[in-house]
Amino acid sequence: MIKIEELSVAFGDTEVVKNVSLELRDGEILGVVGESGSGKSVTALTLMGLVSDAAKVTSGRILFDDVILREAGRPCDKALYRKFQGSEMSMVFQEPQTSLNPTQKVGRQVEEVLLLHTKLDRGEIRDKVLETFRAVGLQDAERVYVSYPHQLSGGMRQRAMIAMAVILHPRLIVADEPTTALDVTIQNQIVELLRKINAEQNNAMLFITHDLHLARRICHRVAVMKDGCVVETGTAEEVLDHPGEAYTKRLVEAVP
Ligand code: ADP
Ligand code: MG
Repeated sequence: MIKIEELSVAFGDTEVVKNVSLELRDGEILGVVGESGSGKSVTALTLMGLVSDAAKVTSGRILFDDVILREAGRPCDKALYRKFQGSEMSMVFQEPQTSLNPTQKVGRQVEEVLLLHTKLDRGEIRDKVLETFRAVGLQDAERVYVSYPHQLSGGMRQRAMIAMAVILHPRLIVADEPTTALDVTIQNQIVELLRKINAEQNNAMLFITHDLHLARRICHRVAVMKDGCVVETGTAEEVLDHPGEAYTKRLVEAVP
């Protein structure tokens, strides 16, 4: 479904993503692991059409099915991306760098996705939001609906973000370090939630993490990034239990 082909991205003269090729099939969870600064977020943001305008795609292209989303030498086609964002692909960021607006009630923010992309009426929208809150484990959905982000715990905010990302059943979900800022117990719950959503909705997921344990638990396949390059790709077992590359070995051995 998603093909990233020989993608390079540069800020000024510095290439931070170098010749990266990745493929994602429907229903598949692909992990992208690597140390901080290895180019994981820039790759994901470029895929989503959300990378800053300062970033130039210097080689390669990105396809969604047969549609070319992004291609070297051409500026980002924002109108094209708007057709895909939300309904076909959505993103979950690291809490608390979430895109929840601190000045607006959480229910209202999730409703906006439906207002923008569906023809449901007010009542249907409210019901759908409450139903989705419950589906992502926000049992007290009515209270969450009328809360401001700061009135919720970090884990609850992340669940609300996930509700927003999955409410339209997008075919691709990109989760960039979705659990990094959360307590270990909550981390595990969020990973289980993403796994459940993947099983129920059959979305493809790009799961970005520097945590190899998490990658091992949720990912079908894993790509390892180093200095902007993908150095190794394979099933989670191959890459994390029997790494072929010296760099991956060091990465795996560094984890307690
Ligand atoms: P990761 O997500 O793997 O930690 P990033 O993709 O965020 O790494 O960053 C890769 C490299 O690109 C880093 O060296 C970072 O400093 C650089 N970079 C990221 N965003 C920008 C930007 N907006 N302007 C300039 N350099 C950037
Ligand atoms: Mg990052």
